[in-house]
Amino acid sequence: MSQTYINELSNHIDSTVVLKGWVYNSTNKGKLNFLVIRDGTGICQCVVFKPNVGEELFQKSLTLTQESSIIISGKVKEDKRAPGGFEIDVASMEIIQIALEYPISPKEHGIEFLAERRHLWLRSARQHAILRIRHELIRAMRDFFDGRGFTLIDGPIFTPAACEGTSTLFETEYFDLGKAYLTQSSQLYAEAAAMAHGKVYSFGPTFRAEKSKTRRHLTEFWMIEPEVAFNDLNDNMDLAEDFLEYIVGRVLKNKSAELQTLERDTKFLQNVKRPFPRISYDEAVKILLKKEIAFEWGNDFGGTDETIISQEFDRPVLVHRYPSAIKAFYMKRDPENDKLALAIDVLAPEGYGEIIGGSQREDDLTKLEERIKKHKLPMEAFNWYLDLRKYGTVPHSGFGLGLERTVSWVCGLEHIRETSPFPRMINRITP
Ligand code: ATP
Ligand code: MN
Repeated sequence: MSQTYINELSNHIDSTVVLKGWVYNSTNKGKLNFLVIRDGTGICQCVVFKPNVGEELFQKSLTLTQESSIIISGKVKEDKRAPGGFEIDVASMEIIQIALEYPISPKEHGIEFLAERRHLWLRSARQHAILRIRHELIRAMRDFFDGRGFTLIDGPIFTPAACEGTSTLFETEYFDLGKAYLTQSSQLYAEAAAMAHGKVYSFGPTFRAEKSKTRRHLTEFWMIEPEVAFNDLNDNMDLAEDFLEYIVGRVLKNKSAELQTLERDTKFLQNVKRPFPRISYDEAVKILLKKEIAFEWGNDFGGTDETIISQEFDRPVLVHRYPSAIKAFYMKRDPENDKLALAIDVLAPEGYGEIIGGSQREDDLTKLEERIKKHKLPMEAFNWYLDLRKYGTVPHSGFGLGLERTVSWVCGLEHIRETSPFPRMINRITP
């Protein structure tokens, strides 16, 4: 008989099925042994009743420890009170392995203890729900762009030069060619691809060697970066809004059980509907000053500043037109005020802060060359990039959204480390 998965049990009421999985919990009450089995798709209570299975099998079932691997067959009964809504009346059972004493018990453990055992921690209900939501977000992100005529074109992971200076890059020796750096953004490559395909996106791992020990920084994370030829700043903001509304909607629609496992209050997620508020950097500064935060015009917002700004709104807020001095060289200046860059950040509500950074790009050759000089970047490294402004330059825009920050917000997590299957942080590279 072939395996049935726990999330398919509703199709098998009153028939006999085979479940393959692991013991999550067990409770013995006289002639009854209750085994809670998980199989990756859900959990199900399996009832071993001595008169039904006989003395030998019953005794064997009493030896099952947490995480022991087994194959069970029995009849599916609907039971509204049971977790998952079904129960199995066990007829036979094959033990694959009696697990050694499992280090992660239902009691509370310290975060370092769990992080060190991430390979096992993944089995816990909470972690399971988070990674399912992560998967749904990835699928939704791809579906969004694939369904709107975008072509997926990934940038390289080994890059010859920094996008925005070298301070936050991981470097490695690259044969006879000197140093290579792990990518911190595919944007420049996405720009080249947009000039070939019009609408493109890249989606891949991104590396930042910044020494940020915060609840929002990983050294390795995934970023999705759309880039669109002929989009201006407003088109870029429209795209970001549309995109966030879609991906959050998909999680609400398809992952409600997981959100429930996480005890996520979805009120704010239900609010993620266009139009989002749009405020300028100047207006964001005013919010901080009104709250008597010591903030000087021209500085970048720190994590707490973003938290305070985002708490003013019931849905994501777009902040546009930042001082050009704090933004990357490739961002186009505001034609109405040269001190400002046509940049946007999207801050997630509930204090989560920046999840998207983007801009309209500088499309003028001379201005871009000046900017590269002013930022003291090596001109030779950008020759190919400057070609894009020599051969049919057009206005264009794009942004980068960090997957893990988005997962953290959607799941309502305190720390980004739980959003990655095997997170990499400045103080952790194992397991
Ligand atoms: P921050 O100022 O919060 O460190 P950033 O401005 O350096 O972020 P960008 O270069 O704009 O980030 O990158 C685009 C997006 O990538 C960010 O909006 C965020 O979602 C994500 N991101 C950036 N750095 C990290 C990181 N270290 N860990 C996880 N996600 C990140
Ligand atoms: Mn940013």
